Amino acid sequence: MSEFSFPKIDLHLHLDGSFRMKTLWELATQKRITMPTNTLSEYKEYIRRCSHAKSVNEYLKMFDHPLKVMQDEASLIRITKELIEDLAKQNLRYAEIRFAPQLHTQQGLSQTKAVEAVLEGRKQALFLYPGIQIGIITCMMSLGPISVNKEANLETIELCQKYLGKGVVALDLAGAEGIVALSDFRSFFIKAKELGIPCTCHAGDSEPVQSIQDAIDFGVQRIGHGHHLIDNLKLCQTTKEKHILLEICPTSNVQCQTVPSYQKHPVKKLYDLGVPVSINTDNMTLAGVTLEDEYRHCINEMGFRKKDIIQMNLYAIQSAFISDYEKQEIIQELKQALKEAEIC
Ligand SMILES: [Zn+2]
Repeated sequence: MSEFSFPKIDLHLHLDGSFRMKTLWELATQKRITMPTNTLSEYKEYIRRCSHAKSVNEYLKMFDHPLKVMQDEASLIRITKELIEDLAKQNLRYAEIRFAPQLHTQQGLSQTKAVEAVLEGRKQALFLYPGIQIGIITCMMSLGPISVNKEANLETIELCQKYLGKGVVALDLAGAEGIVALSDFRSFFIKAKELGIPCTCHAGDSEPVQSIQDAIDFGVQRIGHGHHLIDNLKLCQTTKEKHILLEICPTSNVQCQTVPSYQKHPVKKLYDLGVPVSINTDNMTLAGVTLEDEYRHCINEMGFRKKDIIQMNLYAIQSAFISDYEKQEIIQELKQALKEAEIC
């Protein structure tokens, strides 16, 4: 049995970075998509090299080929289904999988069809693995000045509302940080708020702490990454009081060099300050990690104990975008696990 036998939760997991390599290769071959290498094993090595990028924006280039493959309903259904199957086999109890429907329209698929395909993959997987709960987050994209894809982002918000409660649980903003100020996206989040959509937002990873302040001003309930919060102790207090959770992805942060190393990652300091933080994988395949790998980094290199990992999972489920009723069982189990870990 795993040393981490308590309910495990991943709230920050990108579909297009968490596929099975073998499936991607098979689909690329079928579709005659030119890949950057000649064989699957070379492609694995290529991804491993690229994952040690010099910046987030360079890291994002790794998504080009997976996205080329994921442009039809069948591929989206299969990749979603397989990801949930893999998470269930890793004994996760709850995960939120995010993706940007507008990135799957390169060959004529509509955003609606992309969302429906992912929901179909989810449905098929949950039928086989009823022990795991899965929420889908639809991402708007930051691709440049907001005018570049304003219509596509507005469509994503509308779709998010349409499928809310039917498998979709929240809205996110992903993509390159720093091309434009996050504050430029204010009107999108205001609209989402008016529509009653729960929101998270990538901020404070490669961009300074001001972007976290902007996201909090938008009314988001969680922050994707957000480790630069450590640069503003007053804002740490605000996130604590408002129960705004940081979705921390240690390996991704180290690979993108937004933190110098696991040892110097500020997440333990944030945790000690009482800021709600959670541990997530970001991109299981592209980063080459599982949630348990992340926990081992937490314990071996970042100063956490096992009971802290349980507490972070408790923070995670408390901020999950599902109803209190749906979380209750997991909360009780984690509280029990925490009690037992404290006795040890
Ligand atoms: Zn992310």
